[in-house]
Amino acid sequence: MPSLISVEEAHSLILEQIEATSCETVSLEDAFRRTLRTEIVSEQSSPLFDKSLMDGYAVRTADFDGLSVTLEVLEMVSAGEVGKCSLQSGTTVQIMTGAPLPSGADAVIPVEMSEREPGQSRVRLQTTGITPEKNLIRKGAILQEGQTLLASGILIRPAEIALLAELGYSEIETSTEPSISILATGDELVSAGEPLGPGQIRNSNAPMLVSQVKRAGGILRNLGIGRDQRSDLEQKVSKGLEADILLLSGGVSAGEKDLVPQVLKGLGVREIFHKVQVKPGKPIWFGVQQKPSGEKTYVFGLPGNPVSSMLCFEVFVRPAIRQFLGQSPAPPVLRKLPLGKAHVAAGGRPTYYPSQLVSEPEGLAVTPVDWKGSSDLLAPTRSDVWIRFPAGDREYHVGEYVDVLTPEW
Ligand code: AMP
Ligand code: MG
Repeated sequence: MPSLISVEEAHSLILEQIEATSCETVSLEDAFRRTLRTEIVSEQSSPLFDKSLMDGYAVRTADFDGLSVTLEVLEMVSAGEVGKCSLQSGTTVQIMTGAPLPSGADAVIPVEMSEREPGQSRVRLQTTGITPEKNLIRKGAILQEGQTLLASGILIRPAEIALLAELGYSEIETSTEPSISILATGDELVSAGEPLGPGQIRNSNAPMLVSQVKRAGGILRNLGIGRDQRSDLEQKVSKGLEADILLLSGGVSAGEKDLVPQVLKGLGVREIFHKVQVKPGKPIWFGVQQKPSGEKTYVFGLPGNPVSSMLCFEVFVRPAIRQFLGQSPAPPVLRKLPLGKAHVAAGGRPTYYPSQLVSEPEGLAVTPVDWKGSSDLLAPTRSDVWIRFPAGDREYHVGEYVDVLTPEW
């Protein structure tokens, strides 16, 4: 029997097939969770002017060296206004948070350190701890004109949205999202809301994959359920091949009724690999259909067992989507965390084990949850991450560092 390819080999084979998609301009609000496709170089500085960080009084620190000072208040400047006065010796300007600093000022004394009688033009200010540059921020202290701020290929999060808004962007160049079709296959499958006959089960993979696709970024088409018959599969898979990415579940193992690989090949989808040394998820199938127009459809045959499908999406499909969107690095980055509970790993394949993050007095640890295997959908609901145990029989001790895959849920 030929030896199975490794997860890393599968990643290389997937990523070398997938070209980054084209770009489209979207409004800033619609850019959330999309991929930035242009480098952002600042055309302005931030802040745009010297400004106060407190509600209080703008002062010249040269005016005092004792515990307090009494100054003449020239005017009041709120955020959004520009004052008329500049500070001379013995004067102050009452200023609000975010307001432009009057020229001549080099510190702000918070209002809590002031005493001023109503209607009085003089104010007494405590000056303890008020050194030059206190409670203000200078023009350009955060970023300067010409500075590279964001790289192409990053995921746009609320922080990036806010920065782009500050810089005045109302629309932005992002990756076109892939169209992704989902087809669950199996004679035994019943959709939610339909009565369940003897021997039948619900289709849990389609709703799960729909939500995984939503999270990863894609325009969805749920093609329902394909039956384990050549004609039905051919018809539905053909529809699925109109998309950029087609996700099938079930029908890729070695059973009599596992027709998916044959049907795909019959429709001109070239097999890149079938089966990977991974648990769960060994039967995974990947191929590419190249249309006469030159466009490609990337096809994943995910194993039918729900936890296998879920894990294979995270390990193989999500990197494909990342590469399609122009995000890097595409393959999942594993991090090291100490085990919170001893664990016995067994078997000839690396195993991704549903696990929980736990806060311990010494820091964050990771603990495998009780898991009955690839049809056990309860375990993932009790878990946050997957521990990747290497192939081989071994006992792992508490505190030992293990590799952890953290999906973006
Ligand atoms: P298969 O890969 O088609 O041999 O399916 C493997 C196992 O997963 C079988 O027990 C199937 O009944 C089950 N299964 C397949 N597709 C689904 C699905 N969409 N939802 C839930 N279980 C499924
Ligand atoms: Mg099946």
